[in-house]
Amino acid sequence: MATSPAPRSEPDAIIVGAGLSGLVAAAELVDAGKHVVIVDQEPEASLGGQAHWSFGGLFLIDSPEQRRLGVHDSLELAKQDWDGTAGFDRDEDEWGRRWADAYLDFAAGEKRAWLHEKGVRFFPIVGWAERGGYNAIGHGNSVPRFHITWGTGPGILAPFIARVQAGAAAGLVEFRHRHRVDELLVEGGAVVGVRGAVLADDAANRGEPSNRDVVGDFELRAPAVVVASGGIGGNHDLVRQFWPKRMGEPPAAMLSGVPAHVDGRMLPIAEQAGARLVNGDRMWHYTEGITNWDPIWPLHGIRILPGPSSLWFDAEGRRLPVPLFPGFDTLGTLEHIVSTGHAHSWFILTQKIIEKEFALSGSEQNPDLTGKDLKLLAERLGSGAPGPVEAFKQHGVDFVVADTLPELLEGMRALSPHTPLDTENIEREIVARDRELDNEFSKDLQLTAVRGARAYRGDKLIRVATPHKILDPKAGPLIAVKLHVLTRKTLGGIQTDLDSRALAVDGSAVPGLYAVGEAAGFGGGGVHGYRALEGTFLGGCLFTGRAAGRAIARG
Ligand SMILES: Cc1cc2nc3c(=O)[nH]c(=O)nc-3n(C[C@H](O)[C@H](O)[C@H](O)COP(=O)(O)OP(=O)(O)OC[C@H]3O[C@@H](n4cnc5c(N)ncnc54)[C@H](O)[C@@H]3O)c2cc1C
Repeated sequence: MATSPAPRSEPDAIIVGAGLSGLVAAAELVDAGKHVVIVDQEPEASLGGQAHWSFGGLFLIDSPEQRRLGVHDSLELAKQDWDGTAGFDRDEDEWGRRWADAYLDFAAGEKRAWLHEKGVRFFPIVGWAERGGYNAIGHGNSVPRFHITWGTGPGILAPFIARVQAGAAAGLVEFRHRHRVDELLVEGGAVVGVRGAVLADDAANRGEPSNRDVVGDFELRAPAVVVASGGIGGNHDLVRQFWPKRMGEPPAAMLSGVPAHVDGRMLPIAEQAGARLVNGDRMWHYTEGITNWDPIWPLHGIRILPGPSSLWFDAEGRRLPVPLFPGFDTLGTLEHIVSTGHAHSWFILTQKIIEKEFALSGSEQNPDLTGKDLKLLAERLGSGAPGPVEAFKQHGVDFVVADTLPELLEGMRALSPHTPLDTENIEREIVARDRELDNEFSKDLQLTAVRGARAYRGDKLIRVATPHKILDPKAGPLIAVKLHVLTRKTLGGIQTDLDSRALAVDGSAVPGLYAVGEAAGFGGGGVHGYRALEGTFLGGCLFTGRAAGRAIARG
């Protein structure tokens, strides 16, 4: 067993995790002329962690992009939405609340200018995620706020990777890939370094799982250690262990929306060093997961970012209750689906709806936006489904395509032979819903919501299909999609103050220890509370990573 060589000199900080939050902290330290060692268990190919795969959606308040589309937003409206969504109700929420207030100020203030100055640009049409559907003080975004980075996830990472690589060239940054931290060194109550295993080289491509063969050990010392290790979504055992009781039993089967390195191992390691873990039962998983026909990591699932028109049925063929329409209330829908005792549900839609309303979350699923390819982007705005959506329709195991409803229902049965499917009820619901389209107004709240959405120019242009009858052959063929629960984000984590210093159970800061990004519940151990407004995860990594880097640089 070889011991990893010591750094050139004792660094000012060690960062555990080369995802977005760790890279942002490192970039801030480089700007301040500090020496940093970045330790990551994965090979260099996976630099950037989850953010590389992300859609690059960022929550901004009252941006020029919103204003150009006629959206009136304000800090007050965003705070109303955040509070209604978070539902903060615990003593442990003290720091989550403070981070939320600070984050809202950031998102309404310098966030866009700070990123813009680093070269980050946005797609001009702002998306409307988590539409809510309850009262004004309830869950959801009152207005569109999901700003897609031009270049998606890689586009948001690029300036920070460039800054850190420039730091490496200047001798300020050392990378230690294939170094897995197993312990935080504590002396006199202060964290003074890390210890762990050197893992064997691995030729895994980005995002693929790598081996855990130990070939050596290492120990590094620094006055500051930043835990930037991500959440637990790739570890289904942990997801099941922490599954909130209020949500019933975890589904029997789930897909993974994150790579295997999102393993949650660092959280108890930080706890052993004195940090307080809070809100472990708060997580953010999706209900519109589809099996990736071309997987990169184990159980790889892709989330459909749905427009509001598809009809949503549970596994037995009952339409989901109001307001659990596609894209309205992620966790409300999850709770409902779990309560049915089944792990899946169904979208039923038309070709016309899929063309306009299906987007797939993930940088690799959006080559036009990721590659900044205007020609490809023009195709998205034209007729036909985007290439990656069409590929899923053709190769995906969860898709049924048929010209008639009986054929569609037959195909659905074949995909779930062991679940009783009330096809008569599905037909009755679709025929009744289609009848409601004979007027411009309706008692069917989903249709009213669809019409409301189209009052927003962005939705009308590229996101919400003109209301039409599902059974109109001109809108066909008919499509059914079997949807699975997809694990993704961890909303709890290490409790931190506004400098990203890890806090102990007694509320004091653990000397030398910082936590950022998903490992810190995106700030304070849970900036979101119970639910999230979307686009706030990458933003939480930026904001907490920046705070840690600046605080360490100040000394
Ligand atoms: C497909 C997809 C789409 C998404 N889309 C969006 C979006 O549009 N908007 C949004 O806001 N968010 C989105 N997200 C979420 C967002 O990307 C993540 O929450 C965020 O990138 C997490 O970054 P992080 O730095 O906290 O952790 P990670 O990216 O998970 O990085 C953590 C790093 O720490 C390393 N590590 C862990 N433990 C150890 C250890 N013990 N020793 C050494 N190294 C360790 C890991 O190998 C990893 O490289 C998406 C995520 C995915 C997967």
